[in-house]
Amino acid sequence: MSQDTQRVAIVTGAARGIGAATARRLATDGLAVAVLDLDAGSCEPTVEAITSAGGRAFAVGADVSQADQVEAAVGKVVAELGPPAVLINNAGVLRDNLIFKMSEDDWDTVLGVHLRGAFLMTRAAQKHMVDQRFGRIVNLSSSSALGNRGQVNYSAAKAGMQGFTKTLAIELGPFGITANAVAPGFIVTNMTEATAARMGMSFEEFQTMAASQVPVRRIGQVEDVAHTISFLAGEGAGFVSGQVIYVAGGPLC
Ligand code: NDP
Repeated sequence: MSQDTQRVAIVTGAARGIGAATARRLATDGLAVAVLDLDAGSCEPTVEAITSAGGRAFAVGADVSQADQVEAAVGKVVAELGPPAVLINNAGVLRDNLIFKMSEDDWDTVLGVHLRGAFLMTRAAQKHMVDQRFGRIVNLSSSSALGNRGQVNYSAAKAGMQGFTKTLAIELGPFGITANAVAPGFIVTNMTEATAARMGMSFEEFQTMAASQVPVRRIGQVEDVAHTISFLAGEGAGFVSGQVIYVAGGPLC
């Protein structure tokens, strides 16, 4: 595909975990991918995996909760790869605690990265999608949006991502832009490894326990989420918008 016609995607939090798998998958799908994370250096393994497989990728550092860094990062992507047509708001952090022990900083950090980060990234990217009369936005929600002990901040942020997504779908739909949310259940990453440690379990024990509660009797892998995002980011998904797709091995409601 020529660089003039190749669509450009930005994946936030793409140094590792779900974001890295999604960046690799979108590159396999034929997109040029901006691999964004807090530190550009930490994105290099993802970039290397894409370029060594023949794809086009660019590492960019930014804290998604900081407006000036977001604007600068999107500007660098435009200059290096071209205007973004696909945005995956994936960057995330945990600061779990029961509400009576939760600090204001724990609350603000989680809401800041997930919700404010998605807002800032989308605001900066959407104008390029409007110009192209095409766009695909996928926001990472979570099964925790339905409530999860010790995650009052995270569940509020992930439920917020769903309302944010539906409103984006309404506002941006007339410009050929879709917005959807993917809400994973238990996926094997550093994030769930940290949760196991917080609960005083080995990661293996935690995975076995989680798998026993999932209807398909396994836990999720990063590729499961990347596959769903790939569908939503594709040309063919233009009539799917404002939806929340649970990627959790069973129904959640
Ligand atoms: P990881 O912790 O493995 O990766 C998250 C990435 O986001 C890290 O590279 C991290 O960088 C980066 N990041 C954190 N803060 C910022 C920031 N302010 N600006 C830019 N990048 C940042 O998480 P997962 O891959 O597990 O999760 C990805 C997304 O999926 C998250 O939104 C998460 O909430 C969601 N999710 C995950 C589930 C799971 O089971 N794993 C389940 C449901 C939802 P650094 O390493 O430097 O901190």
